[in-house]
Amino acid sequence: MKSLLIVSAFVIVGSCAETKYSTKIENLENSVNIQDSELILEYSNSINAADLKSRLAIFASEEFQGRGTGKEGQKKATDYLRNFYKSKAIAPAVNDSTYYQTISADFLPEGIGASENVLAYIKGSEKPEEVLIISGHLDHLGIENDSIHFGADDNGSGSMAITEIAEAFKIAELKGHSPKRSVLFLHLTAEEIGLQGSKFYVENPIFKLNKTIANLNIDMIGRVDEIHEKNPDYIYIIGADRISKELEYISYKTNEAFTNLELDYKYNAENDKNRYYYRSDHYNFAQQNIPVIFYFNGEHPDYHKPTDTPEKINYPLLAKRTKLIFATAWQLANRTDFLTHNEEI
Ligand SMILES: [Zn+2]
Repeated sequence: MKSLLIVSAFVIVGSCAETKYSTKIENLENSVNIQDSELILEYSNSINAADLKSRLAIFASEEFQGRGTGKEGQKKATDYLRNFYKSKAIAPAVNDSTYYQTISADFLPEGIGASENVLAYIKGSEKPEEVLIISGHLDHLGIENDSIHFGADDNGSGSMAITEIAEAFKIAELKGHSPKRSVLFLHLTAEEIGLQGSKFYVENPIFKLNKTIANLNIDMIGRVDEIHEKNPDYIYIIGADRISKELEYISYKTNEAFTNLELDYKYNAENDKNRYYYRSDHYNFAQQNIPVIFYFNGEHPDYHKPTDTPEKINYPLLAKRTKLIFATAWQLANRTDFLTHNEEI
């Protein structure tokens, strides 16, 4: 998640993009049915705290040097992700030949070296040209003031969650349960320096944007904020109702059926002073009228500090939140219809 200081220039743009709201949404409640419950339970079993912990121990290690965009540590992180997908035989998404979408230095702010998004996907069995995007940024702040900013929560947690979700979809595919739509696992670079990786993707999409059913963006889901210290089974849901109220219903009902976390909508308020809706990669998808959900645990004292380290992550909770996102992704990838946008109601 990028800091509020850098985002201030975006706020002006953001406030122009007022969302269209409709009050005629009652009919949508009947259109949302939870499907494939047994399959979801079966395949979500592969998502576990031990995997997340062992992967994050590497991804947020000293060796990866805080994954600063364009730096050696970030290249190690992209290598790590590529090797993960290769090892699981999860296909590359760019021209079917490479896992990288290379962003030249010209595209990025001055002084930043070329960088890469990492993309892998599971091909849809019925509508392969339609896609659900599960995204999270792989970069962090690198080294600042001679200190490695490890970024275990921001966003090692989301990055590793995506690998677990991808693995679950792959196991399902191998057992004959491919999703109807394609599912793209999109690891974005250069988020901390202004959402550049997602900006590049929407300008150079691999799947047509109008065939993209939704974007589930994960940025910081491994910790507990002060407000929830006594009831840590929660997740903030941001943006889910802004473009498609139907998406919010699916999210709500999926959680009710599988994970029963407290879905906290506090930061979804249009007047939220933290402006979180504008501060991670989903925002660039929302700007393209693609329905989004931003999954977020809120801030904590280690946010953007060298002390955001792996041993502070709550791994069982990270696994539970990851299962929620997997189950929601399954619903979206397998439903018959595209999501109804609020403007169509
Ligand atoms: Zn951040």
